[in-house]
Amino acid sequence: MNRHLSDDEIAAAVAAEKLAPERARHLEDCVPCRREVDGLLELIAERRRALEAEGPDFEKQRQQILEGLAHPAAPVVALHRRHIWRPILAAAAALVAVVGIWLQMTRHRPAAVLRPLPVEQILSDVDATLADRSVPGFESLDSMIPAPDEMASMIDDTKTAS
Ligand SMILES: [Zn+2]
Repeated sequence: MNRHLSDDEIAAAVAAEKLAPERARHLEDCVPCRREVDGLLELIAERRRALEAEGPDFEKQRQQILEGLAHPAAPVVALHRRHIWRPILAAAAALVAVVGIWLQMTRHRPAAVLRPLPVEQILSDVDATLADRSVPGFESLDSMIPAPDEMASMIDDTKTAS
């Protein structure tokens, strides 16, 4: 069996796949088959070099991305920070005000004076401030705030204790 390699066998040889031993021996001995395989290998190598030469400069793109990360646009970052922190600080200030009033009342006044304090009004104001969930990360404050019922029972406990 001394026929030349078929197209499939040439392709297999180019792809460095294993040929049947007898076909591999033919390829070793047959100059035309050897030349065909080598020619295709050289064609592929040439095409690869051409593609690399005309392709995008990945190293340059990588440098540009790294520079962009090292020097981000300052105004964007500042705006982002202000956007997140302003409502959180507003809610924290509201909480401090409520707790401060509550402590003042329980410490220095008779318990009866607690009744006119518009606790529900203050709490609903705080709830309204906290209800704005449009800012990411803002939800985490929610768990720190006692529910209106809890707050009311805290005040009731203080009243019965004194
Ligand atoms: Zn041959």
